[in-house]
Amino acid sequence: MSVQSTEIHLAARPHGAPTLDDFATVRTEVPDPGPGQILVRNALMSVDPYMRGRMDDRKSYVAPFALGAPLEGGAVGEVVASGADGFRAGDHVLHGLGWREYALLDARGATKVDTGVAPLGAYLGILGMIGTTAYACLMRTAEFRKGDAVFVSSAAGAVGSVAGQLARIKGASRVIGSAGSAAKVSYLLDELGFDAAFNYRDGPVRDQLAAAAPDGIDVYFDNVGGDHLEAAIARLNVHGRIGVCGMISVYNATEPVPAPRNLAQVIGKRLTLRGMLVADHRDLRDEYLAEAAPLVADGTLKLRETVHEGIGDAPAAFLSMLGGQDTGKVLVRL
Ligand code: NAP
Repeated sequence: MSVQSTEIHLAARPHGAPTLDDFATVRTEVPDPGPGQILVRNALMSVDPYMRGRMDDRKSYVAPFALGAPLEGGAVGEVVASGADGFRAGDHVLHGLGWREYALLDARGATKVDTGVAPLGAYLGILGMIGTTAYACLMRTAEFRKGDAVFVSSAAGAVGSVAGQLARIKGASRVIGSAGSAAKVSYLLDELGFDAAFNYRDGPVRDQLAAAAPDGIDVYFDNVGGDHLEAAIARLNVHGRIGVCGMISVYNATEPVPAPRNLAQVIGKRLTLRGMLVADHRDLRDEYLAEAAPLVADGTLKLRETVHEGIGDAPAAFLSMLGGQDTGKVLVRL
């Protein structure tokens, strides 16, 4: 007995910033699971910046989305039918087939999650890929040490808000964040305990960072690239470290973007700049969860979610996340 499902397809490859016309809403029929498969009623799906890169047809660390096919991405939901050993109806699972109401998948692509430990959305955010990314980039890529002054860009976003809080909890001497609105700056200062924060739209990042970090910074957790990276290089102390998690300011670029004009400072300051992909740091997941889950449970580690409603709103949620209209982890309830 098949089920009717609505899914979102990539209708066109965006040129520059994506628009709603690049997506199509498609009604489809999903068959019963075969041997080894499960059918999941998705409850929540994630929209993430990396999805923008997968919309382009170019060689990257992950294959491009196909045109005319459903998009993919992190989702959590409830198994409604199972042909796989170890899974039964009622189980809650995390998997990679979001952007659709019902997902039929090989059970090997699903991980059971415990809604008694944390609400489902947390497995797409602070207790999922997002949290592991923040932990791995801060601790391993940027080699954070107690006493470091840390600057985090897109600090009110999903990854940035976890990275900044982890730095504070682990004994940073100063945690500085940048974000794109006054409300986000207040969130960083008043709710997440950042020592300083600024709105990068208020003036040059370089000047605002200099004012926020009078003694310089030791670590830059880069989510943005561009002017933020250049400002961080200018402000980094000798032997400073840059963990390059993302460069969202260039994801919609249609031409190659210029390098930081002050890149030569990496020599005199002996800076380290290192990119990272969370997929390379799966070994840190359990270590991170052991540390973070109790901190989430007792409220020490906070993550705000912005939840959009309905599969039809998923493209708008994606655009809203990219454009900075939302705070914290952006999800869609399906
Ligand atoms: P997010 O920060 O929750 O959402 C994206 C945010 O980017 C927006 O809210 C917006 O906030 C900011 N933004 C958009 N355009 C900008 C621009 N031109 N300049 C400055 N800020 C801009 O997203 P996330 O999921 O936490 O991801 C954050 C970064 O980590 C992204 O670069 C992403 O690609 C990267 N990432 C990397 C990995 C990895 O394995 N390397 C894994 C996950 C995520 P404002 O209001 O502050 O502008």
